[in-house]
Amino acid sequence: MKLLEDRIKRDGTVLPGEVLKVDNFLNHQVDPQLMYELGGEFKRLFADEGVTRILTVESSGIAPAMMAGLQMNVPVVFARKHRSLTLTDNLYTATVYSYTKQVNNDISIDKRFIKPDDKVLIIDDFLANGQAVQGLLEIAKAANVSVAGVGVVIEKRFQKGHQMVLDQGIHLEALASIASLSDDGVTFASDND
Ligand code: 5GP
Repeated sequence: MKLLEDRIKRDGTVLPGEVLKVDNFLNHQVDPQLMYELGGEFKRLFADEGVTRILTVESSGIAPAMMAGLQMNVPVVFARKHRSLTLTDNLYTATVYSYTKQVNNDISIDKRFIKPDDKVLIIDDFLANGQAVQGLLEIAKAANVSVAGVGVVIEKRFQKGHQMVLDQGIHLEALASIASLSDDGVTFASDND
């Protein structure tokens, strides 16, 4: 998506460890108008999938997921992060390793907020090694719901998550796909087309 790629070029910075910092519009300060446009793009890309609910993870997935939910007129549920859970009877849970924070978190969704006939769209801010998305896929499986697809704002295609999602036969869409990150900046997959 050109609008998003332009914004990443303008405001993104590359940190050591192949991390892209976009806290100017996505991860700390949030640009609502841009998020609204991204939500509209997710709606267009998943229009044929019969989405009934959006799942994401707190906190950075919430803004794009909310705008997708607004555009698609479906509820948005964010998994909550905890250090470790004891009482899990009413929850679907999965353990997720955080790429940027390098800690394990349990993520959980209350069973009341996923229904057996749901077709869920998973949305997140970044797809890197795929741990966060995999955790949500595990929750969807435990809840016995079908997965309409995975939509991410930014994927780092050179890391494992992209292929991991495709290998499961899941419809994957990234609004910006990064081929490489270096001291010279960001190269998008579309730059090589
Ligand atoms: P994964 O689970 O796919 O390895 O990583 C996904 C999560 O890690 C995202 O939800 C995001 O919060 C964080 N993350 C991974 N890579 C980056 C990055 O390059 N920049 C930022 N800002 N967050 C990232």
